[in-house]
Amino acid sequence: MPARHLPDAGRVKGIAVVAGAGPAGLTAALELLRRSDVVPHVFEPDIQVGGLSKTVNYRGNRMDLGGHRFFSKSDWVMRWWQDILPIAEGQMQADEALRISYRRQSRDWVPATFAASSTDSVMLIRRRLSRIFYRRRFFDYPLKLNANTLKNMGVAETLRLGLSYANARLARRFPETSLEDFLVNRFGRRLYRTFFKDYTEKVWGVPCREISAEWGAQRIKGLSVAKAVANAITSPFRAAADTSQKQTESSLIERFLYPKFGPGQMWEEVARQIALRGGNILLRHRIVALERKGREVTAVTVQDLTTGSRRRVACDFFISTMPVRDLTAMLEPEDPSVLRIARRLPYRDFMTAGLLLGKMRFTGDQTERRSVRGMPPDNWIYIQEPDVKIGRLQVFNNWSPALVADPDTIWLGLEYFCRQGDDLWSMSDGQFIDFAAAELEKIGMLDRKDVRDGTVVRVPLAYPAYFGEYSEFGRVRAYLEQFSNLYPVGRNGMHRYNNQDHSMLAANGAVNSIIDGGHGKSEIWNINAEDEYHEEIGAPP
Ligand SMILES: Cc1cc2nc3c(=O)[nH]c(=O)nc-3n(C[C@H](O)[C@H](O)[C@H](O)COP(=O)(O)OP(=O)(O)OC[C@H]3O[C@@H](n4cnc5c(N)ncnc54)[C@H](O)[C@@H]3O)c2cc1C
Repeated sequence: MPARHLPDAGRVKGIAVVAGAGPAGLTAALELLRRSDVVPHVFEPDIQVGGLSKTVNYRGNRMDLGGHRFFSKSDWVMRWWQDILPIAEGQMQADEALRISYRRQSRDWVPATFAASSTDSVMLIRRRLSRIFYRRRFFDYPLKLNANTLKNMGVAETLRLGLSYANARLARRFPETSLEDFLVNRFGRRLYRTFFKDYTEKVWGVPCREISAEWGAQRIKGLSVAKAVANAITSPFRAAADTSQKQTESSLIERFLYPKFGPGQMWEEVARQIALRGGNILLRHRIVALERKGREVTAVTVQDLTTGSRRRVACDFFISTMPVRDLTAMLEPEDPSVLRIARRLPYRDFMTAGLLLGKMRFTGDQTERRSVRGMPPDNWIYIQEPDVKIGRLQVFNNWSPALVADPDTIWLGLEYFCRQGDDLWSMSDGQFIDFAAAELEKIGMLDRKDVRDGTVVRVPLAYPAYFGEYSEFGRVRAYLEQFSNLYPVGRNGMHRYNNQDHSMLAANGAVNSIIDGGHGKSEIWNINAEDEYHEEIGAPP
């Protein structure tokens, strides 16, 4: 849904309570202040703003949870970001279009203004490099059928993969009910086991046999080995036929925008502007109860997590980015099935160990980027090795040098997909740091004696999942939609697999609807619903 712009005429007044100071909550608050006389009161349980897009500062070393690329198909979002943090000058020519990309989508963007590169309030243009680590070797990401892959896999294994694929095409599984059926039919059993099974199960914690084929169809649309082979064979001819060869080559280089001090810098700056305009943001405050009159939210109860005290805040509008599960429970629906579905919505949790090192043991380098002190040149690496639990490795130095306090150190994020209360989650911080460092040592990336410091960040409900009870989510949504002044927006707020931009567009949709007397409320649910997902081979969420 494109971002709409409504006139400022007849400015709406009132109090909006906003649950959560992540991208959605903060976008809503700033837009209300810019375009209405509604005063936002934002409550956030965390000690800092940014939600899942926060940057954690550990002794001057900054951690981005997951690695947040700034990319949007929406011009409104691109301008909005640039208005808050302009692109640092000197990274491209004025008038030149910047080609940025994200998961097989790319777009050209001509920045309106640049900021002096000497200032800190800027966005950087970064070149992406991320690869798959498997069999103690690096594979291109997305997986390509090229000389490197053939060399890494070996001729015999490549032939076996080909035969397995041919076999799958001849004897298709029917009916195609599970994600496993879906993937085996398209890639062959061997390729499925090599590049999909372990990683998908690591990410979601569920066997591929228990994930529906429909989910695969939505997330891995349009990909097949036949297509990959065809692409690999025809790409040299396509490039030769292109009259603007240079342009083609540059479009293959993936770039993304990134705040100098990590994604949290964007949201800290937005929070500063909200406060300047008279909005309220209270950290360490959680909304714990709601009051309603029929189908209208009239007040919230907020708990101060420092003192434990509670207070009531009356509201005219309620914008919620808290998990749908919690919101629905607080509304106490009359129909018990609505509560049951909301309570059982599936999520995946996430943990990161930040490790600070003097050096690493990376040697093999098939890229044109040099490694320094044994540090891989990648922004992040997908770890497909079945003998370790780590899912992804972030190399923060390569996201932005400003994330690292001492440029002579290497600052890593070792990411694990987990479930609250499981073995990983329950480890003490010290145990988890040792465990994570031992895993990287096992796959030959570092020596534990080179680890100088470490920290742990636990991220509950990082991934709203689309299986299990989610199939009945429509009933919860229909219930929430009945409330005239309630706007559930954002990632967990709508149980949607949102990036920052989708959350921001939903928040902007809520503000439009508030200004427009409640019109367009249900359209907000169309954001990020019609988007096609084109996941890449072995891709995580
Ligand atoms: C590993 C990973 C990688 C990602 N990579 C990218 C990327 O490359 N690019 C990108 O654009 N996006 C990326 N994302 C997605 C991005 O982090 C989210 O889309 C974005 O942060 C969602 O914003 P939000 O405001 O909707 O929700 P959140 O960021 O989840 O914020 C919701 C806030 O609500 C608060 N809250 C919860 N309960 C209550 C309550 N009862 N009362 C008050 N407040 C409450 C929470 O504490 C939280 O701060 C990634 C996410 C993950 C997990």
